[in-house]
Amino acid sequence: MELKDNVYQIQNIPVQEIVREFGTPLYIYDGNRIEKQYNQLKNAFAGIKVNIKYAMKSLSNPAILTLLQKQGSGLDVVSLNEARIGLDAGFEPHDILFTPNCVAFNEIVKGVELGLKINIDNISILEQFGNKYHDTVPCSIRLNPHIMAGGNAKISTGHLDSKFGISIYQLPHILRIVKTYGIRVAGLHIHTGSDILDSEVFLKMADILFGISRDFNDLEFIDFGSGFKVAYKAGDITTNVYDLGLKLSEAFKEFCGQYGRELEMWFEPGKYLVSESGIFVVQANIIKTTPATAFVGVNSGLNHLIRPMMYDAYHDIINISNPNGIQRVYTVVGYICETDTFGTDRKLHEVKEGDLLVMKNAGAYGFSMASNYNSRERPAEVLIYNGKAHLIRRRETFEDILNTVVVPQLD
Ligand SMILES: *Cc1c(COP(=O)(O)O)cnc(C)c1O
Repeated sequence: MELKDNVYQIQNIPVQEIVREFGTPLYIYDGNRIEKQYNQLKNAFAGIKVNIKYAMKSLSNPAILTLLQKQGSGLDVVSLNEARIGLDAGFEPHDILFTPNCVAFNEIVKGVELGLKINIDNISILEQFGNKYHDTVPCSIRLNPHIMAGGNAKISTGHLDSKFGISIYQLPHILRIVKTYGIRVAGLHIHTGSDILDSEVFLKMADILFGISRDFNDLEFIDFGSGFKVAYKAGDITTNVYDLGLKLSEAFKEFCGQYGRELEMWFEPGKYLVSESGIFVVQANIIKTTPATAFVGVNSGLNHLIRPMMYDAYHDIINISNPNGIQRVYTVVGYICETDTFGTDRKLHEVKEGDLLVMKNAGAYGFSMASNYNSRERPAEVLIYNGKAHLIRRRETFEDILNTVVVPQLD
């Protein structure tokens, strides 16, 4: 979104015009921006065989998936339903990596039946996998290198206490199981959480993985997960993917030389690809002044964008209805009946009831984490692509909310 001729627009379409057509609250994504992010990452690793698996849990609308599939992306999925949505959107089963956590073995079996690449995250499943498939189905193993990374405890997965991956201290046990059953380990995987700051952490993880790789003879890829940091506010440090690309490619080539075969390097970004492409538009319902605070109450809440309340995430907020107004300090809150704050002490151009506010960086973990809490409908989603606006999910209705309810005869 940019301010041109005093009007906030996406690809030259005024946001207010989009809202006039589709209403609020509304998620709007810039599809060309997503393509740009994908190609930027791809180009940063131009010297090696790199394979990007979009982590679709961040934004799972099929139109977004199709767009990324056309760019050549693969998918990282965490449930069978995500895999089904991906297959419907045009991905081939072998382009989809299934990385579930704490699922029953029958989900893994279904994943194999769908033809997905399987990523195994605990010793118990590895043993059951070996017992059933021996060397007939390759898999990859998710390791926990115990590197502390990530902006928030809830999205950091590398710590000692984390439920994710198999600890690298259990490597001897892994090797014993792999050898006993003859399991074909085609990939090693690490995802230590979102918001890793710098190339150094990646290089450290790479070092650990390269070391462990020597114990596995059938490798085809090494998967570094995600952890790319995007800017949520001015001055935030972001991952410099060109710097990372140069350094990591160099180290990878050297490793492949020693390993004796050219492997693929995989990544699974979610946020990096879609976060900045998205905005969330709401309308100011009420301006309410208390002795301490000027609140703007909007027609949405943590049911539609939970990141501020769940992760303490910062989303820039802009009053697009009054781009030249004087700035005043507001706390922007939602309509949910519990503490429901989008932003505290924000400088906004003076807000009047009815004004449109935009929350930036809402592409990732916005709609995909939305719920019907307080029995509210979930928003609509619009994709802007090549200068045109497309509705890609209609607004929910009251009937949608009641869809699964069964009324019993209680007598
Ligand atoms: C969530 C997740 C990702 C994506 O993380 P982002 O911070 O959105 O890039 C990648 N891999 C796995 C296994 C995940 O669970």
